[in-house]
Amino acid sequence: MDPNTTTIASGLQKVRTRITEIANKAARQPEAITLLAASKTNPAECLREAFAAGQTIFGENYLQEALVKIAALADLPIEWHFIGPIQSNKTKRIAENFAWVHSIDRKKIADRLSKDRPESLPPLQVCLQVNVSGEDSKSGVSPEEVADLAAYVVELPRLRLRGVMAIPELTKATALQRSQFRMLKEAYDQLKQAGHDLDTVSMGMSEDLDIAIEEGATMVRVGTAIFGPRRYPIPEELAARSQ
Ligand SMILES: *Cc1c(COP(=O)(O)O)cnc(C)c1O
Repeated sequence: MDPNTTTIASGLQKVRTRITEIANKAARQPEAITLLAASKTNPAECLREAFAAGQTIFGENYLQEALVKIAALADLPIEWHFIGPIQSNKTKRIAENFAWVHSIDRKKIADRLSKDRPESLPPLQVCLQVNVSGEDSKSGVSPEEVADLAAYVVELPRLRLRGVMAIPELTKATALQRSQFRMLKEAYDQLKQAGHDLDTVSMGMSEDLDIAIEEGATMVRVGTAIFGPRRYPIPEELAARSQ
């Protein structure tokens, strides 16, 4: 047997156990937290192994890389989520190939995704990415502008607004992380108060999923804790390292 098979299955099992334990401690229902496997840099075979271990939701950041895997795994009923930054020349293939997009941060991209979503498919399920760290380098709409963007997106015929997403600052300062997760949850609560029918707070990754769940995450996006270290460095991480 491929040694990775057991590794990925046990990585998944550990993450599921961790989610259950944190949820229980935080007096939340473990079933209220959906696990998305963030699979960037891992080849299709690794995703197939995760699928065999019960994982059906996968998130990808880079369109070209994702399309290769989507084609290779077309025999499996995987729900594909796009979680990376979106350039406007990529919206067509994103709208054609994914069930969800977490990273909408401007009207132009929302417009294009709605226009590009094939009539043969259900509406594209979307989250608005909110910049909770205030870092210039991070994508995301500012917390002040999220209500305006939400009001715009719900009018688009081929999109269905599900909630909000954020990537907080990479830091060991847990109080800072917690305050940024809290900011996202507040943005979500305010949108609900404004009458939007939402169910998704997409936040929490391998290193910080505990705090995210305590602060109300309904979907956590976990990569390295399932698949092990990335197969090759990604541009954001290279940039962070050279700072
Ligand atoms: C890579 C990535 C994740 C998962 O990160 P890990 O630290 O590997 O768990 C989650 N969300 C986004 C947007 C990512 O790019």
